[in-house]
Amino acid sequence: MMKKTVIIGGGLTGLSAAFYLEKEAREQGIPMSIDLIESSPRLGGKIQTVKKDGYVIEKGPDSFLERKASGPQLIKDLGLEDRAVNNAVGRAYVLVKDQLHPIPEGAVMGIPTKISPFISSGLFSMAGKIRAAGDFILPASKKKEDQSLGEFFRRRLGNEVVENLIEPLLSGIYGGDIDQLSLMTTFPQFYKVEQDHRSLILGMKKTTPQNTQKHLPGRKKGIFQTLDNGLESIVDAFEEKFEQTVVHKGNKVQKLQKREDGKYTVELSNGKIITADAVIMAVPHGAAASLMKDEPALGYLKKMPATSVATVALAFPKDAVEMNKEGTGFVISRNSDYSITACTWTNKKWPHAAPPDKAVLRAFVGKPGQEAIVDQSDEEMIKVVLEDLRKIMTIKSEPELSFVTRWKQAMPQYNVGHKKKIIEMKADMKKKYPGLSLAGASYEGLGLPDCIEQGKKAVKEVLNFLK
Ligand SMILES: Cc1cc2nc3c(=O)[nH]c(=O)nc-3n(C[C@H](O)[C@H](O)[C@H](O)COP(=O)(O)OP(=O)(O)OC[C@H]3O[C@@H](n4cnc5c(N)ncnc54)[C@H](O)[C@@H]3O)c2cc1C
Repeated sequence: MMKKTVIIGGGLTGLSAAFYLEKEAREQGIPMSIDLIESSPRLGGKIQTVKKDGYVIEKGPDSFLERKASGPQLIKDLGLEDRAVNNAVGRAYVLVKDQLHPIPEGAVMGIPTKISPFISSGLFSMAGKIRAAGDFILPASKKKEDQSLGEFFRRRLGNEVVENLIEPLLSGIYGGDIDQLSLMTTFPQFYKVEQDHRSLILGMKKTTPQNTQKHLPGRKKGIFQTLDNGLESIVDAFEEKFEQTVVHKGNKVQKLQKREDGKYTVELSNGKIITADAVIMAVPHGAAASLMKDEPALGYLKKMPATSVATVALAFPKDAVEMNKEGTGFVISRNSDYSITACTWTNKKWPHAAPPDKAVLRAFVGKPGQEAIVDQSDEEMIKVVLEDLRKIMTIKSEPELSFVTRWKQAMPQYNVGHKKKIIEMKADMKKKYPGLSLAGASYEGLGLPDCIEQGKKAVKEVLNFLK
């Protein structure tokens, strides 16, 4: 008998879920109809590309880590391999107190795996370096429960390495506060390295394959991948490939309820009610909680924070931008007096993204405790970004084009205890709502490959239930 699955949310998680559910159901001979419901008029969620006058500008994510298999696999499954490109290799910097310092060679998320580049780096004082060397002799922590990334790294490597290198790198990924972010959710492998090898530096040296050093100058291929016609071409490819999936755009799900017979009713903003055998909720956690307002099992999601950020991409004639250092971008330590948190020199990192005679700088603003900037007008935000950039480089003209994108409450915060809370919540929900899966950036990883992976996991859960 035909089974109906409703997928709520048309971001990468929901799209991947629909695509792989079609594929699996076909291969397993399960008759399946799928409704994908998206509140905005377009699919893709945080994936959004502007293509204009030869520019390919990403408003949200710009690429994914190639080494996580689900990204390249999806590109292959969608037949987009010919369009996949890796970032150009170039130096990346950290800005500390108005000075750009190259990220020391061998640093993995800021953890040294090569000693001499750290010793010679201008990023740390001698006292900071001596404190970091304490990692060689300090015992492994006996703590079994979760702790913040800040607590973990400060204990092993000292405050200076954390503030000047690890914090700007990690908070750039999570848009969060390193002293709140959960070690066990974000980087459980670092906890394991400490437990197995005691010294983080020696353990990382032993366990890091040499090919993760690809970002260094001299290597041919960068570690990130995107599509030369923009990440949004993934979204277009999904839409073209869907066979059994009916896409409802511009339709918000208002309410989700389980009926007594075990089926689900999904209430849309246009008044339509869809009855489903199974549901995949692939919306951000705040939206998930509001779809099932009275459900106590979702209590954690109601309290879980999310930070707001904005991207500001500015285009100039190429010769109008000069920096006395060669590189593809920099992150900024929070002890520096800047509003921007990171900047990518987009046309250098991604040569396909701009006409040959143009330069594009893409800056990020917004961090925990300083999110008000995201509410400023485009003009104000561009002014602040330009002021910051001019402290670092010479910019001789005003931007020819600018793209400001606000991402309100868009970065889910995996604070200490997150992983355990999610495991408990999902177990609770599974008992109460068999056939309902929660997936997406709010739960088990916010990188694009993690979202694809969670979409696939939800497909498995739904098929196991329906079988
Ligand atoms: C500025 C920025 C830069 C980033 N850069 C990178 C990067 O370079 N690499 C990387 O790997 N990751 C990056 N990320 C993270 C990554 O983009 C996201 O984690 C990922 O795209 C989230 O996908 P998702 O499908 O889980 O959620 P979303 O993309 O948020 O999709 C959820 C969808 O649900 C819809 N929705 C919400 N409520 C309802 C409702 N009631 N009914 C119906 N639909 C609803 C929304 O409109 C949305 O389309 C970045 C994120 C941001 C914000």
